[in-house]
Amino acid sequence: AHQLLPAAGALLPGLGAAASQLQARRTKMSHSEATNTFILEALEHLEYPKRLRKLLLTPEREVAVELALLRDNGEVATFNAYRVQHDNSRGPYKGGLRFHPQVDLDDVRSLASLMTWKTAVMDIPFGGAKGGVTVDPNELSERELEILTRKLVQLEILTRKLVQALRPILGTYEDIPAPDMNTGAREMAWIFDEYTKFAGFSPGIVTGKPVWLHGSLGREAATGRGTVFAIRELLAAQGLGEIKNKSFVIQGFGNVGSWAAQILHEMGGRVVAVSDAFGAVANEHGLQIPDLRAHVADRHSLASFAGGVVIPKESVLTVPCDVLIPAAIGGVIDEDNARDLQCKIVAEAANGPTTPEGDAILRERGITVLPDIFTNGGGVTVSFFEWVQNLQNFKWSEDEVNAKLDRVMREAFEAIWELHTEDKIPLRTAAFVKALQRVTRARVHRGFD
Ligand code: GLU
Repeated sequence: AHQLLPAAGALLPGLGAAASQLQARRTKMSHSEATNTFILEALEHLEYPKRLRKLLLTPEREVAVELALLRDNGEVATFNAYRVQHDNSRGPYKGGLRFHPQVDLDDVRSLASLMTWKTAVMDIPFGGAKGGVTVDPNELSERELEILTRKLVQLEILTRKLVQALRPILGTYEDIPAPDMNTGAREMAWIFDEYTKFAGFSPGIVTGKPVWLHGSLGREAATGRGTVFAIRELLAAQGLGEIKNKSFVIQGFGNVGSWAAQILHEMGGRVVAVSDAFGAVANEHGLQIPDLRAHVADRHSLASFAGGVVIPKESVLTVPCDVLIPAAIGGVIDEDNARDLQCKIVAEAANGPTTPEGDAILRERGITVLPDIFTNGGGVTVSFFEWVQNLQNFKWSEDEVNAKLDRVMREAFEAIWELHTEDKIPLRTAAFVKALQRVTRARVHRGFD
């Protein structure tokens, strides 16, 4: 007689516990389920036919490719890459490309959807898309000695291969990538160059390019600056005064976090703690942000900065402050830590930093959440300005860019604040309602044939 195989847990002691842990993790929502939860909540406030839901929730196109790279050691490595085009009812697909080890299709799907709602809340004529490569750019080179130059070569090859793989679905009036986590002006220059090889001069194929290579003044700081404008508007609307003398904590010190810190500092705000992927530093009197930025730019770790005390990076979210700014990865504020936050406002500079469970706790606690699809919309707004300048072969001054960004942020805020106060719905729901109205109006008026 066949003997039944013993249960896996009995074969390998400890596996049973691991399996049930995995089970627990599986029951948590995925990124796209979390984003869809917010969209469905907003749809409750709109009298749309149910059949519209699928159209609004499902991406229009998903492309998954594999990029092969010859490594320093002669081995071939392969990387998964994705581009998800969520909706183009209001204009060409638009959204960043991220290089991060946690990138997967579900993540990119949710980020692409967020771009659709973001461009709609900001009322700029783009749709939504997102892409990414599952890679840790810091691990692209194995030889420590040549690390910088070799790493750059590998990164450049990888970026160019990504353009070659995605070329059929990109286009100046089709789908326009931009920077996101671990990508910036350097990568955008490679994308511009690679695409130009096939299509001829097309600066509007990608935004976030270097300012001296058809980029826009003010684009690099735009997401951070927009975040600060968003906070300024909220403080004024809530009668809480100005940025000056308020205290801020920032999780993430990449492009978004470091620029937000810099601009808050210039406006007299006190940035009392910041963290990055490796450490955190705090100073209750306010960190000297320009010095900290210079320290980090010199490739020193944030935690070795002399102007503050080192704190565990996990504790940054619970440092007392007026405004907490998550500016790193998604899903960091959840049911496990939302009760421990010690702030009045959460300003979501990151995409999807709060899970629906975490969000529910913040609502219950009376902490105002400035939602990502509005708060970090400054980046894509100035991307739109860059695209317009490229199409016109013209260059605006930085003051002009910043003034236009300010206006777009104010108008977007007014629109969602009005819905928030009149319909008594959270700012996040208001932002999704506004975005859904704009996207469906465009879709319906264009027709479905
Ligand atoms: N990656 C940024 C975002 O998440 C910018 C996108 C863009 O400029 O197209 O909004």
